[in-house]
Amino acid sequence: MIYLDHNATTPLAPEVLKAMIPFLTENFGNAASRHHALGCAAATAVETARQQVASVIRADPREIVWTSGATESNNLALLGVTHSAAYRKQHIITVSTEHRAVLDTCDYLEKKGFRVTYLGVDSGGRLDLAHLKAAITDQTLMVSAMHANNETGVLHPISKIGALCREHGILFHTDATQSYGKEPIDVSSMHIDLLSASAHKIHGPKGVGILYVRRRDPRVRCEALIHGGGHERGLRSGTLNVPGIVGMGIAATLPKVAGIRRLRDHLEKSLCTKLHAKVNGHHSDRLNTTSNLSFNGVDGAKLMARMPGLAVSSSSACTSALLQPSYVLGAMGCDDASIRGSVRFSLGRFTSTEEIDTAVTLVVESVEAMLKS
Ligand SMILES: *Cc1c(COP(=O)(O)O)cnc(C)c1O
Repeated sequence: MIYLDHNATTPLAPEVLKAMIPFLTENFGNAASRHHALGCAAATAVETARQQVASVIRADPREIVWTSGATESNNLALLGVTHSAAYRKQHIITVSTEHRAVLDTCDYLEKKGFRVTYLGVDSGGRLDLAHLKAAITDQTLMVSAMHANNETGVLHPISKIGALCREHGILFHTDATQSYGKEPIDVSSMHIDLLSASAHKIHGPKGVGILYVRRRDPRVRCEALIHGGGHERGLRSGTLNVPGIVGMGIAATLPKVAGIRRLRDHLEKSLCTKLHAKVNGHHSDRLNTTSNLSFNGVDGAKLMARMPGLAVSSSSACTSALLQPSYVLGAMGCDDASIRGSVRFSLGRFTSTEEIDTAVTLVVESVEAMLKS
């Protein structure tokens, strides 16, 4: 199996698994049971991991809250801030290409009486800062804008968005699940107040993630969604997933892989020249691991069915269960045929040149066969 679906999930890195195993076996202590050695060992490991995940975004470890993944982190950011009695404002700004974990939470907030503005994007999937500026009112409490899009890899200018929010006294949350560990992020210089990330997108285990919550300048007020014991400074109760947390810590320290962009570009160029495929998303403002391509006259799902040895995605894996055409490509103004013919290729740290060459051959043969029949 050639796996080019890393934006959906990634395999565990061997060093991550190795670090986790002791905490699934002999080191089974509860990190809250600090009155004995097993609990202490777990607590120490959790704090080491907290430092590891914080340093990726240049945060203070005390600003990291462990969650079950980025879906929960996004929920905690949006619901936790809007529910805080410290804030009175009722308006949220987000973007129409956000992950469902943000959009569905915003839908829910609308039902609860909040006003939400969904900003559009251009044909490259990019946000217009002038539109964002124009949407701000004196009622705007927060902006939630993702860093890298999961379907296209397109990057939003979070540094500029952060500066604009700070200037207007608005909180800034970014879903950085796809960029965390891949693109440079500095929560302070970028004026990020809340940030979501997930271990399983960076060769860590599933079921663990973080929410960064700024402690000072400004101190973000956030209400817990889960109550019961006051773990994580009251923001997220429940026994910590120690093996998962240790795994995320190690995943956060994995060195960046060199040459992944060259592989992606090679894949993209080969398919574009051989099949007249079109790239969805801005060429340069994009993650260097992701290529979303449209093959004209071909159905993406049928194309995937023809290539059982190649794991790619015809839409976001999280939403494809709904069998809806991609709302992300729709928001970029792609026509129905391009959306239907779209396939996302996403590379990871173990992707090899041979795999890319085989994938190109497979896709070219399959598309040509489909166009002939
Ligand atoms: C995968 C993903 C999520 C959801 O993360 P989970 O940890 O699987 O809940 C949220 N946002 C983006 C951008 C993602 O890619």
